[in-house]
Amino acid sequence: MNLVEKDNQYLWHPYTQHKTASAPIAITKAEGALFWDENNKEYIDAIASWWVNPFGHSNKIIADAIYKQLTTLEHVLFGGFTHEPAVKVAERLMEILPDNQKKIFFSDNGSTAVEVAIKVALQYFFNKGEKRTIIIAFENAFHGDTFAAMAASGISFYTMAFQGMFIDVVRIPVPVKGKERESFDALEETIKKHNCAGFIFEPLVQGAAGMVMYEPEALDKLIEICKKNNVLTIADEVMTGFGKTGKNFAMDYATEQPDMICLSKALTGGTIPMAITTFTADIFEAFYDDDINKALFHGHTFTANPTGCAAALASIDLLQTSEMQENIKRINKSHLLFQKKIEKHPKVITARTLGVIFAVEIKSDAEESYYGSMRTKLYNFFIEKGVVLRPVGNIVYVLPPYIMTDEQLQKIYKTIEEAIEMV
Ligand SMILES: *Cc1c(COP(=O)(O)O)cnc(C)c1O
Repeated sequence: MNLVEKDNQYLWHPYTQHKTASAPIAITKAEGALFWDENNKEYIDAIASWWVNPFGHSNKIIADAIYKQLTTLEHVLFGGFTHEPAVKVAERLMEILPDNQKKIFFSDNGSTAVEVAIKVALQYFFNKGEKRTIIIAFENAFHGDTFAAMAASGISFYTMAFQGMFIDVVRIPVPVKGKERESFDALEETIKKHNCAGFIFEPLVQGAAGMVMYEPEALDKLIEICKKNNVLTIADEVMTGFGKTGKNFAMDYATEQPDMICLSKALTGGTIPMAITTFTADIFEAFYDDDINKALFHGHTFTANPTGCAAALASIDLLQTSEMQENIKRINKSHLLFQKKIEKHPKVITARTLGVIFAVEIKSDAEESYYGSMRTKLYNFFIEKGVVLRPVGNIVYVLPPYIMTDEQLQKIYKTIEEAIEMV
């Protein structure tokens, strides 16, 4: 049996209907923005492997940092113990996070970063003896696949089977152009009607919804409404964090600051699963008490894994280099040029860019579902051409590693243009 046959015998893949999905592609090697499969076919990674990889695959600097840490202190439990890599990650993050963020809590993935934030929002009011149990979230939000994260998510096929089993979430519209007022009013109304503990949002870009974008001024207004009503705000920067929007964090575009921030994905440069939730001093103080019951009884076995921390440190350093900052600007300029060109195409509804994120919506006769027929046609076309893109329904987005060359970018654009002609 070859690799794919053995995979078929033993493995269960994420977001996959195994009865209808085509066989997975066996990747044997990756470098920079490229993958190679077992037949040595080359693929451009146009989506940074689900948005995790800014600095290129098999990055030597991060690999060296990981090796050094693995052979010095690979892991120690974080209950009752600490270590330099964790402290250093906290110190480095404090330098670049919004300056109201004072405490950091480690976990393992984006969903758990969100899970921690939502639990903290609920317990914050419990600890203060105030009954607030409702979480506010955007329509079409995606915050992950664990239960509280799913509850906050608004894309139905991720959560359909579990309706009725969630914590209480009230959904408000995203303040996209022209819908700002509707969104502000819905938030005011929701806070008036319910005992709201927190508002969780993907700042400026809703990734899984198809790179849906809205303006920082609208976000400022929403946070302002929450602050006035003592509702905690949670910025889920799992996708947007670490340069993807053109700044370190999407929240850097806003004037208001959130109470909590969720980080993962690019945190370790796409190498080791790790996540962080960050908090204001006010939140930490609501848990700081002689009463042990007011503590945050949440933790994961691999919390603050030193090897993950070493990868994060190397990644944060890489992000701050002028070379990487220039790369981000270069990709943004390139996207904007392509956007100008493609948005005039008769088969294009709209195109948008923020930082290294680009998305184009293609006209379609049928109501396009997330995993609908146009999506399959597009995906297969891209794979055949050696470009890894995962369209969301009729939306094709590009989110490349920052080290991607201009030549590779042009190949991606050209392939998208061909795809638009083809569908
Ligand atoms: C990917 C993502 C998550 C979930 O992260 P996982 O590591 O897949 O659990 C949460 N929020 C946002 C905005 C994401 O993009």
